[in-house]
Amino acid sequence: MKDCGLLGMCGFFTKYCKTKDLACKGFMRIYCKGEKQDQCKRKIYRREHGKAPSDDMLPSGQMIRS
Ligand code: SF4
Repeated sequence: MKDCGLLGMCGFFTKYCKTKDLACKGFMRIYCKGEKQDQCKRKIYRREHGKAPSDDMLPSGQMIRS
């Protein structure tokens, strides 16, 4: 499976890729590097709004609370 084409410019990925948070790692495995990458809500948002969503939006569409 190829990685998501937005990986290098995706705020979520660049901000959280080094995290030790297992939930974030799971999202990356399933979405960014996995079979659900075409269903990523960040990708859909970018397509609909013509700009990237907040870095804190998960691929599922939920926001990470700080
Ligand atoms: S969060 Fe979505 S847009 Fe970003 S790299 Fe992962 S699959 Fe691609």
